[in-house]
Amino acid sequence: MNYLPVFLRIRNAPCLVVGGGAVALRKVELLLSAGASVTVVSKSQDHRILNLVQQDKITYLKCGFSPELIKGMHLVVAATDDRTVNQQVSEAAMAHAIPVNVVDQPELSSFIVPSIVDRSPVIVAIGTGGTAPILARLLKSRLETLIPAAYGRLARLAGGFRQQVKAKFDSIAERRHFWEHVLQGPIAELVFSGRDDEARDALEQLIEKPDHSPAVQGEVYLVGAGPGDPDLLTFRALRLMQQADVVLYDRLVAREIVDLVRRDADRIFVGKARAKHTVPQTDINRLLVELAHQGKRVLRLKGGDPFIFGRGGEEIADLVRENIPFQVIPGITAASGCAAYAGIPLTHRDHAQSCVFVAGHLKDGQLDLNWSALCQPDQTVVVYMSLTGLETLCSKMIRHGADGDLPAALIQQGTTRNQKVITGTLATLPGAVSSGDIKPPTLLVIGHVVSLRSGLAWYNPDDSSPDTDTETTLHAKSDFSR
Ligand code: SAH
Repeated sequence: MNYLPVFLRIRNAPCLVVGGGAVALRKVELLLSAGASVTVVSKSQDHRILNLVQQDKITYLKCGFSPELIKGMHLVVAATDDRTVNQQVSEAAMAHAIPVNVVDQPELSSFIVPSIVDRSPVIVAIGTGGTAPILARLLKSRLETLIPAAYGRLARLAGGFRQQVKAKFDSIAERRHFWEHVLQGPIAELVFSGRDDEARDALEQLIEKPDHSPAVQGEVYLVGAGPGDPDLLTFRALRLMQQADVVLYDRLVAREIVDLVRRDADRIFVGKARAKHTVPQTDINRLLVELAHQGKRVLRLKGGDPFIFGRGGEEIADLVRENIPFQVIPGITAASGCAAYAGIPLTHRDHAQSCVFVAGHLKDGQLDLNWSALCQPDQTVVVYMSLTGLETLCSKMIRHGADGDLPAALIQQGTTRNQKVITGTLATLPGAVSSGDIKPPTLLVIGHVVSLRSGLAWYNPDDSSPDTDTETTLHAKSDFSR
């Protein structure tokens, strides 16, 4: 190791920043966030530095650097573009053994500032010894995705009980075992889902009676997996996918996404093709309850968002009755995913002030929708489950007063490599779709916003190399129902 990583306590300590530009400003802000008492010295300054002076957050000396300025400082940063000045600052600080950093000049610095992942009080610092700061930044962004935002709250909760735990358990090994159990189990999960009070109670109980902790309680994560592209998963979805014991998924979840679930988790396919539920909904609901009662962390992975045509409400109703803890993690719903990837803004000041989502599947060959609401002007209508009823839907809208020339688009397997967009009007789209080779799932978008696609289409997966394994990519065999 060329450097010793340490965390320096500089709260209220006088620190000096030499330089008044944007780089200096960043260092000033960093020092302020650690509570330092900052003095800035420079001949000219960024207006944001003046703002800080006006808010009484820093002391500002409008002059050049002179060595006596470092007297009494606990830390010095040089952030000027004048190498001679930087050299002087470095020499003066080193002569008094005051830690000094010269931005971008590790050879003049006694310390370097790492890339930081801040979940205070948890802080991860990454350094490359000044060799490749960009690499440190790349690593930082990876870690940002891995460490839940609530880690700070978890650390504070643990900190509050540290002495109690120390008093309770004599050996280091016992204490380590205890904290490992707390920090990666259900108590941590309570903190991550914002239930800090319950977490505190559970922790208190566990310290009180570590041997009588209730049988491991299972829990259910109802997670939206988005419309297809695995990159559209949320951080929380990915984290829960990595810790589940068993996963229940259906056809709408892309195979690449199921592959991201923890390797040794049991996988249960619960089907759900239109009019052919492989596992009936009531059985799915019951299965979730049974698995949770066995103490398992159950991941119910759903396409898009669980609360948008996803029966999420039904699936958790039984959990509520049975007192089983659960979390609902939103996903990008097909409407926003497909619209974004098709270059169709769902609202636009000139074209649509509102947007409605409706389910368009036929019941006994009929479509029972509020037609006058759907035919309102300046509105975008997004129809889920619309492929089989497409023709009926378009003609009914025209019959209820919508303009036959109203633009409409059908998006096939939006956000995936197999995305295909067919555009037309209410009058022409059904014909265009029936002559095209369309593979579900598909989403219908109706409204003037569709005309914007001609200028905004940005995602054009290479036609020459479609995913040949279409069927399994989105587990698509027919149009999907809920
Ligand atoms: N909960 C899901 C919707 C489930 S209903 C969500 O929020 O997206 C199933 C319907 O969603 C399908 O019939 C289709 O209309 C739509 N859908 C889901 N994923 C899609 C995709 N990648 N491309 C086009 N339509 C999609």
